[in-house]
Amino acid sequence: MEPAPDPKGAPASRSTPASAGTPAPPSIVGLAGRRVAIRVDVDTHTGLRDGVPLLLERFGRLGVRASFFVTMGPDNSGRAIGRLFTRKGFARKMARTNALKTYGLRTILSGTLLPSRPVGSGFPEILRRVESGGHECGIHGWDHVLWHDRIERMGEAEIFGELSQAATAFAEATGHHPAGTVAPAWRATAASLEVQDRLPFLYASDCRGPSPFRVARSDGTPHRLVQIPATLPTLDELLGASGMTGERFVETLASGLHPDRLNVFTIHTEVEGRHHAALFETILRRFISDGWTFETLGEIAARVTVRAAVPPPPVCRLERADLPGRPGWVSVQATPARSV
Ligand SMILES: [Zn+2]
Repeated sequence: MEPAPDPKGAPASRSTPASAGTPAPPSIVGLAGRRVAIRVDVDTHTGLRDGVPLLLERFGRLGVRASFFVTMGPDNSGRAIGRLFTRKGFARKMARTNALKTYGLRTILSGTLLPSRPVGSGFPEILRRVESGGHECGIHGWDHVLWHDRIERMGEAEIFGELSQAATAFAEATGHHPAGTVAPAWRATAASLEVQDRLPFLYASDCRGPSPFRVARSDGTPHRLVQIPATLPTLDELLGASGMTGERFVETLASGLHPDRLNVFTIHTEVEGRHHAALFETILRRFISDGWTFETLGEIAARVTVRAAVPPPPVCRLERADLPGRPGWVSVQATPARSV
């Protein structure tokens, strides 16, 4: 079922992602060097409980610093199974990624036949371990499944409830407000962008795109928060693509990194943290041997928004696009409109 147009007037056009086949984005002061950010999305109870400790161990062993973004509320992953019957793309993805093996039966039934379990709010000690290990931690919504399915129909009050609940639970666990917010399922709307601007975040990472930027409203004025988009495809999107082996996946990622530009690779605790842990370690070792160093999204946001950053991040429209291997639309950065 296709999502309905956003009644709030968010850009609803669909296009090819800005990073596909378009000229290289301009260099932005603050992005110099061979640096890559690993963004870790934590969507489920099991992904946090079992996947994050394994990733922390791996990152510690390899000297990697990463940015974790945690869904703070209930794990309603079971409701996502309803999409099996309504979306062909989702059925293909579930089959291709071997969903039962990757996510486990308990996660697939969570929020339907079995009660939903908490994600971030249930494991404050793990969130503190992430930060004490030298990594960054932020929020990835309150109810991931609700956001994915309903964000286009959610008004500002409902979105404020989701984000403020998540931020409050995060602050109770860590003692401070999260600096970064990451929209579940790479879905942002005009309403969600307005709400985020009013909360004390320092940056957002709601979309795919080639460079840091600020989103233009329909009247052209920029939003307050800088966006640090994900630049690379994810493992679950590429798995099962024609001729895609683990070796080719590593090559695809390694050749997708560019010196002096933004490089953000997103992983999921349920995929790279557990089921594909060995492949993920191979990727990290390849990045290290190619001379890449690791930074957090918060560090990138801080560098590109300091006064000395000339030119500052451009102002771009946010569009919707269908990406290969991902069911439904995601938010993507459009061609830069103008600098502020
Ligand atoms: Zn997610």
